[in-house]
Amino acid sequence: PLPVLAVVGRPNVGKSTLVNRIIGRREAVVEDRPGVTRDRVTYEAEWTGRRFKVVDTGGWEQDVLGIQASVAAQAEFAVEAADAVVLVVDATVGVTDADEAVVKLLRRAGKPVVLCANKVDGSSMEAEAAYLWSLGVGEPHPVSALHGRGTGDLLDAVLDAL
Ligand code: GDP
Ligand code: MG
Repeated sequence: PLPVLAVVGRPNVGKSTLVNRIIGRREAVVEDRPGVTRDRVTYEAEWTGRRFKVVDTGGWEQDVLGIQASVAAQAEFAVEAADAVVLVVDATVGVTDADEAVVKLLRRAGKPVVLCANKVDGSSMEAEAAYLWSLGVGEPHPVSALHGRGTGDLLDAVLDAL
């Protein structure tokens, strides 16, 4: 079976945009309205000749549990079935309680984590992503999922982790 990569993080950080980049097609995974991805969705992907599965999460964002609990719950579910995890954070917003909740859960799960500092659309912002070392899950990889910037380096790190 192919190795499985789970993409987790709080709503609106760009998980689905990143998954679109990774799978290399432009299907309608992303919508601007938050909470629109209804369930975990699995795709097949390939990078430098290696195939893997990638799981987009983010279905229960409007859940009665509240954002923090529902993000953690679905991340937990996806991470259980994954060989490695990409944690996406919005580098332009900073670390929120929901980010911290996911990090806690990832620590417990013990799966390899690759940190994606997303929405770094220009090189002038790259240094700003360095504060994300403080999350304690290793090197922040500056990425613009929207424009494709940095995704190659991120995927190299992913393949090392898978
Ligand atoms: P998700 O809820 O984590 O799946 O986030 P989405 O992929 O749906 O993206 C949420 C919003 O952020 C959308 O409006 C995207 O266009 C935007 N977005 C995603 N990635 C980037 C990025 O790298 N740069 C910028 N500027 N916007 C982004
Ligand atoms: Mg989404």
